[in-house]
Amino acid sequence: MENSNHFGKVYLIGAGPGDPGLLTVRGKSILEKADVVVYDRLVSPGVLSLCSPRAKMVDVGKMPTHHKMKQSEINKLLVKFAVEMPGSIVARLKGGDPFVFGRGGEEALELVDAGVEFEVVPGVTSAIAVPAYAGIPVSHRGIATSFHIITGHEKEKSVVDPIAALQGDCHSGAEGDRIQCNLSLDFENLAKCQGTLIFLMGIANMDFIAHRLIECGKDPKTPLAFIEKGTTPNQRTVMATLETAGETIVRENVTAPAITIMGGVVELGKTLAWKKNLPLSGKRLVVTRAAKQSSGITARLTALGAEVIETPMIETRSLEKPQTVCHPERSTVGAESKDPGLQGSVDFKSLANYDILAFTSTNGVECFFKQLFAAGYDVRVLAGKKIASVGKITEKKLLEYGIRCDYVPEDHTGEGLGLLLRDVVNKHDRVFLSPFDKLRVNSGRSSESNDLVESRILLLQGNLADDTLLKLLPKATRWTVYETLPVAELPDWKREAIVSADAVVFASTSAVENFVKLTPQSAEGTISRLTPHTSFCIGRITESAASKYGFETVTSDETTMDSLVKKIVEYYTTSSNH
Ligand code: SAH
Repeated sequence: MENSNHFGKVYLIGAGPGDPGLLTVRGKSILEKADVVVYDRLVSPGVLSLCSPRAKMVDVGKMPTHHKMKQSEINKLLVKFAVEMPGSIVARLKGGDPFVFGRGGEEALELVDAGVEFEVVPGVTSAIAVPAYAGIPVSHRGIATSFHIITGHEKEKSVVDPIAALQGDCHSGAEGDRIQCNLSLDFENLAKCQGTLIFLMGIANMDFIAHRLIECGKDPKTPLAFIEKGTTPNQRTVMATLETAGETIVRENVTAPAITIMGGVVELGKTLAWKKNLPLSGKRLVVTRAAKQSSGITARLTALGAEVIETPMIETRSLEKPQTVCHPERSTVGAESKDPGLQGSVDFKSLANYDILAFTSTNGVECFFKQLFAAGYDVRVLAGKKIASVGKITEKKLLEYGIRCDYVPEDHTGEGLGLLLRDVVNKHDRVFLSPFDKLRVNSGRSSESNDLVESRILLLQGNLADDTLLKLLPKATRWTVYETLPVAELPDWKREAIVSADAVVFASTSAVENFVKLTPQSAEGTISRLTPHTSFCIGRITESAASKYGFETVTSDETTMDSLVKKIVEYYTTSSNH
């Protein structure tokens, strides 16, 4: 068939060995745009979370014992998606590199046959990256001048008991539960190789492989390492020698996916193992912030060795224009209803009515300025106004717009901000009165002055903001600048990843509540033992919501990401929490 643009295009993308940081820039940019992602078992959740949230996710992963989908079916599926979805981007995401024992070539041939356009995006192969994460260079001056990547598993035949097979009864099968001894490897030549030998898919057959190499003259004392789940939080290195390979696998229960590396370079791993020394190495953390806000903390936690699963619980959406909100205890602003719903767009001209603008989130800052600029104004409309922020993160965001805060409470909560502003009002801080107001205050109408000043406070918040501020400042006005919508469901792979995580990071009460709602194992409003039990919280209100649902809570001293990250490191570096 002719190559046709009427079809979608298939990208065979290497996902790397596990750590999402090892996905290529090209791979990431395609995943962000993909309409369909067809992925394998070895693709880590960290990589899956980089895919477009609107992509159809198809798991064709193969477990060692039951094949979810045959290779021929996968080939057909790729063609089907491309043919049925003209103009679409179909990402075929494979562990490591698609052409290193990845059957990517077979898929590409099928696409060529069907006239479907395709591209290959190479990946970082586990054969090299996994040893690197264990501190083992595959080549090293004076030790190994070549390296050889070999499959330790060929065709599937019968399934047998691996222990029996390790005792000498050789059969064939896939890694993990089957043994294959009729490997057509050239053991004579492999035994003569002075370079490093790297076996993929070889755990089940390793006893046989090691025996054959020794039979063919390889030194039985050759150092060897099994590296299990390399580059993931569960990476483990087990050292052995050629002659102890089989018994070590059984004794240490080495399981797939694992690579076996043989040769003098293995010894270097004893000195160069770097990953396990990172403070958060081996930890999988779920970050429940909205994607836009979470990348800061994700980058920091990843740099410290953690694997982060970004699982936003809410999506925020800027409104086109700020909306006035009906005061919960006042019917003066608009509606009769007590529902603090949106009541109608405001005109930025009315900013002239306010002396203090109070922001309670970075989102509020970003959306407010977006709307202000879109309406044709710039920061000059804020000249002379005082600016208040709930905490340091919001304060920093304001600085990006060239605005320095006048008021930031020591206690970084809505309540702290409300009390601070009330204090400002109570002190009759004349700075905030317009000349006209000053006249009124000076002419003996000071009883009105509090009200007057307070009514000149404008709160810029999201639609789900609680009423803490309005209760403390009943005369203030609130504009809603963004909407917060709870995420309605989580894909299966994400739920699975969450179950295996060590802890969850919460930055708001609503995130806690939605997390509990979306996590399948939560029963009767309390988290079960399956959910990660530990939570790291920003702010005391979040903390109390999390503990209400049964989480063990660890709360940052300050409401900053730095403080939270410090707390997480402290938690995991105290021996009892390892
Ligand atoms: N295309 C892949 C290899 C696919 S074969 C690549 O380039 O990496 C699957 C084998 O790769 C597994 O049986 C195991 O031997 C190895 N492997 C893949 N990911 C691994 C990981 N994170 N840790 C250890 N071994 C891994």
